[in-house]
Amino acid sequence: MAKWVYNFGDGKADGRAEMKNLLGGKGANLAEMASIGLPVPPGFTLTTEVCTHFYKNDCNYPKELTQQVEEALALVQQRTGRVFGDSTNPLLVSVRSGARASMPGMMDTVLNLGLNDKTVEALAKKSGDRRFAFDSYRRFVQMYSDVVLGIEINHFEKHLERAKEKRGVKQDCELLPEDLEKLVKSYKAVVQLELGEEFPEDPKAQLWGAIGAVFNSWMNQRAKTYRQLHDIPEWWGTAVNVQAMVFGNMGNDCATGVAFTRDPSTGTNEFYGEFLVNAQGEDVVAGIRTPQELTIKARKSHGSDLPSLEEVMPNIFKELLSVRSQLEHHYKDMQDIEFTIQQGKLYMLQTRNGKRTAPAALQIAVDMAKEGLITKSQALMSLKPDLIDQLLHPTLDPKAKKEVIAKGLPASPGAAGGKVVFSADEAVRRSKDGDKVILVRIETSPDDIHGLHAAEGVLTTRGGMTSHAAVVARGMGRPCVAGAGGITVDYAAAKLTVGSVTVTEGQILTIDGSTGEVMVGEVPTVPPQLSGSFGIIMEWADEVRDMKVRANAETPADARQAKEFGAEGIGLVRTEHMFFDGQRIVAMRQMILATDENDRRQALEKLLVMQREDIIELFKIMDGMPVTVRLLDPPLHEFIPHTEAEMASVAKAAGVPLDRVRRRAAELQEANPMLGHRGCRLAITYPEICEMQARAIFEAAAEVGRSSKKLPVAEVMVPLVATTEELKLLKGVIEKTADAVKKEQGITFTYKVGTMIELPRAALQAGKLAEMAEFFSFGTNDLTQTTYGLSRDDAGSFLPEYKAKGIVEQDPFVSLDPDGVGELITMAVQRGRSTRPDMKMGICGEHGGDPASIEVCERIGLDYVSCSPFRVPVARLAAAQSALKTQGEKTKQSSTKATKPRVQNFGPW
Ligand code: PEP
Ligand code: MG
Repeated sequence: MAKWVYNFGDGKADGRAEMKNLLGGKGANLAEMASIGLPVPPGFTLTTEVCTHFYKNDCNYPKELTQQVEEALALVQQRTGRVFGDSTNPLLVSVRSGARASMPGMMDTVLNLGLNDKTVEALAKKSGDRRFAFDSYRRFVQMYSDVVLGIEINHFEKHLERAKEKRGVKQDCELLPEDLEKLVKSYKAVVQLELGEEFPEDPKAQLWGAIGAVFNSWMNQRAKTYRQLHDIPEWWGTAVNVQAMVFGNMGNDCATGVAFTRDPSTGTNEFYGEFLVNAQGEDVVAGIRTPQELTIKARKSHGSDLPSLEEVMPNIFKELLSVRSQLEHHYKDMQDIEFTIQQGKLYMLQTRNGKRTAPAALQIAVDMAKEGLITKSQALMSLKPDLIDQLLHPTLDPKAKKEVIAKGLPASPGAAGGKVVFSADEAVRRSKDGDKVILVRIETSPDDIHGLHAAEGVLTTRGGMTSHAAVVARGMGRPCVAGAGGITVDYAAAKLTVGSVTVTEGQILTIDGSTGEVMVGEVPTVPPQLSGSFGIIMEWADEVRDMKVRANAETPADARQAKEFGAEGIGLVRTEHMFFDGQRIVAMRQMILATDENDRRQALEKLLVMQREDIIELFKIMDGMPVTVRLLDPPLHEFIPHTEAEMASVAKAAGVPLDRVRRRAAELQEANPMLGHRGCRLAITYPEICEMQARAIFEAAAEVGRSSKKLPVAEVMVPLVATTEELKLLKGVIEKTADAVKKEQGITFTYKVGTMIELPRAALQAGKLAEMAEFFSFGTNDLTQTTYGLSRDDAGSFLPEYKAKGIVEQDPFVSLDPDGVGELITMAVQRGRSTRPDMKMGICGEHGGDPASIEVCERIGLDYVSCSPFRVPVARLAAAQSALKTQGEKTKQSSTKATKPRVQNFGPW
C-alpha cells in the first residue's frame, strides 16, 4: 500500500533528512531531529506526493489518506498522552506547509488547531491560565478564518481594536480573559455573517480544513511568484506537517526563539539569535516586541538592557548550546533553528541549513574545514558558485561625503542607491522603465516579493535581522537595512520623514546593508576588496580544478579586472566590441558601408591603428598568458546606422554624399541578421578586413615581444566557420600577413590560428577543421541558436512559456543543453582530438560562466572555460566543484570496476 503519511516523535521517525523531496525540508528535518534524540514534539508529515496527487485529481486525496492520517493522529495522541477534541486533556496541533526548498512565509499555517468551546475550557484548566487559553482560542479562530475560510483579517481586527478601546488599553496582552472570551464570540459571529455558517467546532473537520488550505496555498499567487523567482518547479508540491502544539506563551517560564548556529551575516562562530519570554513564534518575527539576545556577549555588544537567555534561563541555554553543537556535527553545516520553551522544557520545532550572506558562507566553509568538521572538498562543495557574485557587490566609497539620516540593522550587505518607492508594484513599474529603485516599507511581507526582486535595495522601519525583509533580501543578494525605527513612513503621502528631513517618492536614497546606514542622495561606491576567506576558497578551488578559466574581455579595464579575479588568459576578444564607442563606431560604420575596396581600405587604416593599440594593451596586461583575438563578427543590424545623424557622421568621415550612405544602409538590411553576412563570411567577401586585423594583432605581438620580458601568446580565431574552405582561405591570409609583418619588423613571434565551433556543420566537420585549426573554441551562443533553430534575439519572448510548461528546464541560452548542444560539442572534441590529439579546446559562449554548463564542459573534457570578468571567480569555484564531482564518480566507478570514458564515443563519420 502506498505510504502517504510519515510519523516522527519519541526518538523515532519514519523519515530521514535525505527525504526532502518526499517530506519537504521541514518534515525531513523534524524526522531527523527526532531520530537523533532531540526534543521534538511528536507529529506526522503528509508527503509532497499527496500534494501532486491532489492537483492531478481535481483536488481529491488518495483514498488511503484518511485512514493513514487517523492512524498517525492516534500515534501522536499516544505519544503525548492527549486526545484530539478531549474535554479534559485535549491535543492541539499546528498544521504547516513544508516544500523541498524553503519558501519562507509563502504558504499557509494554522496554529492551535483543535480548540473549540469545550477544549478551550480544558486548556484553561490544565494551564491554570484562562487568559492564555482564550488568547490562543481567539488567535486560532482568526487564523483559521483567514487561512481556511478565506475571511479577510480586518473583519477581526476591528473587533480587537474595539475591545482594547473599551478596556482602555493599548496592547493586546492587556486584555482580560473575559474580553478575549467575548472576542471569540464576536469573531465567530463574523464567520456566521460572512459565510452564513458556523465556525467548525469539530477538531477533525478543522484538521482536514487546514490540510486542504495548506495544499491549496501551494498555488497562491505569492507562492507562484516565489517559485518563478527561485526556479522551483510547480510539480514538486508541498508536504503538510501536523505536529503537537507546544506553547511559549504559557507564562514567564515559557519562551520562543529563533537562532542561527553561527552569525549569518559575517559567519563568525558565535551563537546568534533572538527570543521572547512568554510569546508565540510569530511574535519574534513580527517585530512587535523587541526580542532579547541569546548570549551575554551579544547583549553587551548590542547595548541591550534586556537580559539574555543565558541570564534568564541558564540551564535551558546550556541545553540549547549542546543542541547547537549536536546539530552542526550532525548536519555539518550552519543551522537555522526554531525553538520553544514550555514551562521550563526545551522543544525543537525546526532546523534547516541557515541562509547566510555570501561573506558568511565563505567564512563558515573555511572555518568548518579548519575546525575539522568538514573536509576542504566538502567546504568547496558547500558553496553555491553564484554566492560569489554577491561578494563582488560594491560598497560605499570611504572617501565619499555622505549625509546619514538614519540607522537601522545591517541586514544584508552591499550598498545601493536609487529612487525611493513605497510599494512593490511601483518598484516593478519604475525598474521596468530603467530606474534604479530603493523599496521602502514599514515592513515587508511575502506579497512584496516582486518589489524586492525589482529593487536595488530594501529599507524597512520595523523588524529585526530575522524579519521577512532581512531574510529574503539576504537570499536574493540585495542590500537591506531593516528596522530603521527613526524613520516614519507615510504611504498615503508617498514620503518618509526623519527629524526635519523629508524624502518623497522618486528622490534618491542610498542604503548600506553592511552598516545599516541610510543616506540622502547618491553616494559613490567602490568595488569590493577580495581577501580572507575568499582568497582561501579560491586557492582551494584552484588546487582541485582541471579546467583553466579565461575571460571574455575587450577593454584594458575588463582585462585588468579579469586578471585580478584570477583569469588565466583571455578566451575571447570580440574585436567588433572595441568599436562601440563614440568616434570609433563611425570608422567601423564607414568600413561596413564602403562600396568599394578603396573606400574600405581607407576606413580599415583608421581601424588598424585603434585595433593595434588595444591589442598591445591586452598583451601587456595579460603578460604572457594567452589572448584569443577573434576576427570581426559584427551582426550587421547592430552596426548599420539608423538615425539621420548617425548616417550624416559616417558620410562626413568617409567624404561621401549622405544619400549614398542612406542607400548603402538600406541595401545592407538583412531579414535574419544573426544568420547573415557576419563572422568569417564578411572576411571571405572582403579579405582586406582579415588582413588588417591580422596585421594589427601581429604588429602588436611584435611590439610587445620586443619590449616585454614575457612573449605574448597570440591566438587568432576565425568566427562562424561552417566549411574547411572558409578556414583555409582565411588562414592563408593570416599566415601571409604574419610573414609580411615578421619581415617588415625584423622580429619573429609565435601565434596560433584556430576556429570557433559555433555551427552544427563545424561540429560535424571538426575532424577536418582540426587539420588546419590549432585550437577550437566553442561559441555556444550561436551553437545553441543554430542547433535549436532559435533566434538569439527573439527566443526570450516565448522561452518563459516553454519553461513554465516544462518543455525546457532552463533557458538553453543560459544553461548549456547537454543533450543536443552538449552532444555536438562532445562529438567535435572527439573528432578534433583524433586529428590533433594535443589540441586546446575551450568554450567562450555565455555558458562559460554558468555553473551547470561548466559541469557539462568538465564532463566533455574541455581544457578551459571563458566568461565575463565578474564571473571568473564563480567559474573557478564551479570548475573545482565539477572536478570534485567527476573525480568522486570515477572513484565510485573504479571501485565497482566499471570505467566510463570521459569523452563519449561517436563515429565512424
Ligand atoms: C558565441 O556565439 O557563443 C560567441 C561567443 O560569439 P558571439 O556571442 O559574439 O556571437
Ligand atoms: Mg558567435
